[in-house]
Amino acid sequence: MIFLDAAATTPVRREVLEAMWPYLTGDFGNPSSHHSLGESAAAALAGARASLAAVLGCRPGELVFTSGGTEADNLAVKGIALARQAADPAMNRVVISAVEHPAVEESARYLERFHGFSVDVVPVDANGQVTPEALLPLLGPETALVSIMYANNEVGTVQPIPALAELARGQGIPFHTDAVQAAGWLPLDTAALGVDALSISGHKLGAPKGCGVLYVRGRVRVEPVLHGGGQERGRRSGTENVAGAVGLSTALALVQAAQREQAGRVSRLRDVFIDAVLTGVPEAILTGHPTDRLPSVASFCFPGTSGESVLLELERQDVVCSSGSACAAGSDEPSTVLTALGIPREVAQTAVRFSFDAAVTGEDLDTAAKAVSAAVAGVRSLGTS
Ligand code: PLP
Repeated sequence: MIFLDAAATTPVRREVLEAMWPYLTGDFGNPSSHHSLGESAAAALAGARASLAAVLGCRPGELVFTSGGTEADNLAVKGIALARQAADPAMNRVVISAVEHPAVEESARYLERFHGFSVDVVPVDANGQVTPEALLPLLGPETALVSIMYANNEVGTVQPIPALAELARGQGIPFHTDAVQAAGWLPLDTAALGVDALSISGHKLGAPKGCGVLYVRGRVRVEPVLHGGGQERGRRSGTENVAGAVGLSTALALVQAAQREQAGRVSRLRDVFIDAVLTGVPEAILTGHPTDRLPSVASFCFPGTSGESVLLELERQDVVCSSGSACAAGSDEPSTVLTALGIPREVAQTAVRFSFDAAVTGEDLDTAAKAVSAAVAGVRSLGTS
């Protein structure tokens, strides 16, 4: 099978599993326990935090372990906005982009439904990018938070985060970015990015599902979303997933150490694949930014088909990909990300996303490109759009 759905999830890397194994078996303590097993777990957690902090260019105390990207986004959006509102009731607006993952969008909508916030949605251009000019008019004295993703999961467009963050922070507004898809492919130094909060998920990087981390800059207050025993300095209660934290930190250190090399190599393969698909499939449309895009994502619309039928046809040829984001799959509604780019609904319904991990080869992509042109031709000939 040629697996081209790495933006949905990735297998656990051997080195990651080996690093986790002791904390799943003999060294199974609860990091809050006051005995040697607990201390050993606490030390492993501290080690994982220090390793993540080194990669993210922050202090270990600025990191909160979570159950994944969704929880990290929820904690950032709800936690920071609610803490600011608690300090100043006039803070009642949040700004998000039109292409956020539902973990950010629905968190903002929750604030709107239950906490009196208004959500300001900053539009994207036809390539899926937010420009500083589009963001600026939405910022004001009532803006509690800006949340704009680093790289989009459906079309791969990368946002100009340093410029956007600088605008918000220049007005004293905290800036969060969802870096779930960016991790492993783009620089992650939080100081260079200029962000106040940044979310990462383990399972997109070769760590298991169910582990993630949120960076929150030291002076930024965050109201907890999960209440309980006060772990993670009161910011996220619940016994920490020690093995998951160790796995996440091992995976992130591995991918970020190789980030430049892998981004360069995989970008070149991606571009060859994009050319092959655009040449091999009449009327194929590349979605997202032509150059400011993740090395790992190539996304297209194939007018005259339905994304789902192309997907099924490709799977028959042993090529696995996605017809949109995994979260939106199964719904008949076209992707809101694609419609935000101005793509008509009927064209958006023909979207297919190919996403790669660092193990992808030119040979795989060559085979996949041929399969894509055969699959689209097959679906079009049947008229099953
Ligand atoms: N944010 C983005 C951009 C994603 O692509 C995903 C997962 O698809 C998430 C957040 C959610 O992460 P998790 O699956 O770890 O909850």
